Amino acid sequence: MMITIKCPSCGTEGSQSLLEPTYRGPYRCWKCRELFSIQIENNEVKSFEPITEEQMAKQQEERRQIEELKAKFRKPSD
Ligand SMILES: [Zn+2]
Repeated sequence: MMITIKCPSCGTEGSQSLLEPTYRGPYRCWKCRELFSIQIENNEVKSFEPITEEQMAKQQEERRQIEELKAKFRKPSD
């Protein structure tokens, strides 16, 4: 589903597609290009935290590592 996110910096509305009603991750305003770490619960934005490109890259890397770990546990290793 899609939810509407209002940029706290410039007030422009954008949308984010969600796989689950809870989401935590980066969001970039399409208009002012401001980057935020957002937290969504029950399809509502609970918090906005401005982050830098570096922080976003770090967050994405962490998520990727977690996904990799999960995948390892699912697959029998050889
Ligand atoms: Zn904005």
